[in-house]
Amino acid sequence: MYVFKKANKLLKEREKLINESEVHVVSFSWNGFTPVLKAFDGEEVREIDLGSIDLNISQEKTCVGSFDDDYTPCPKGRVVIKFNQCQECAPDSIPDLECIFEPQECEECEGGFCEEEHAVYLAFHGKYPKIGMTRKERLEERMIEQGADAYALMVTTEHRVDAREEEKGLSDRLGIPQKVGRKKKLKTFSRKIDKELIRRKYTGVDNRAPVGKLNFLNDYPISLPLRAEPRTRPTAGLHRGDMIGVKGKYLIYENSGLQALDLSDMPGRKMKLRE
Ligand SMILES: [Zn+2]
Ligand SMILES: [Zn+2]
Repeated sequence: MYVFKKANKLLKEREKLINESEVHVVSFSWNGFTPVLKAFDGEEVREIDLGSIDLNISQEKTCVGSFDDDYTPCPKGRVVIKFNQCQECAPDSIPDLECIFEPQECEECEGGFCEEEHAVYLAFHGKYPKIGMTRKERLEERMIEQGADAYALMVTTEHRVDAREEEKGLSDRLGIPQKVGRKKKLKTFSRKIDKELIRRKYTGVDNRAPVGKLNFLNDYPISLPLRAEPRTRPTAGLHRGDMIGVKGKYLIYENSGLQALDLSDMPGRKMKLRE
């Protein structure tokens, strides 16, 4: 019996080894209310099944490559820190990657993404409001990506630089921050979303600044509120447990308590997974 058990155990371990593969995470995005994590396995880019969590994630990030026509891995495999791509692999529409965070002089951005129509918005994460900006075309996608519970369009602009200016101006004037930090966002996971409170706060803004219709985002694939506030785990390292759900950038799983993995921090990392 003992021998049999041992043999069985060895067999299982061998199976695990065979099914363990290493992939390079290349993107995290939302398709409506479905989170999509994609990785390059050496042959093709494929979607990673988020149903079971058994991942070993690298510390280092390397350029995710180029998606212009077909997928092309980074020819230099460059280490990246601030962005997911090196400048060589970035799309032609973003000649200066710095514009993603803070629009620059934008002399070369002509016809590129800085010159697309932008939107300044008001968003709510639970009771916490923020003012932000994004390309108008991506507004709802961006809100879902951030895990907002509600949002409203405030102003549109013709250029990313102007959107950033409007965002700062409105933030100062209304006393609403441009960011809701990690701790506050994670707090909202274990509290009931008070829609009445959000509506009241929205009305308060509506009386002082231009703001469009308030939209609620209710369809995240997670059952809220959670029984407790999740703890964030460093992205690098081992993540193993039972999947609870995803909202915004946080994947929540159960392993001796509720753990939060930041999926937006994954592109560029290598990941060993068992499947
Ligand atoms: Zn590259
Ligand atoms: Zn620019």
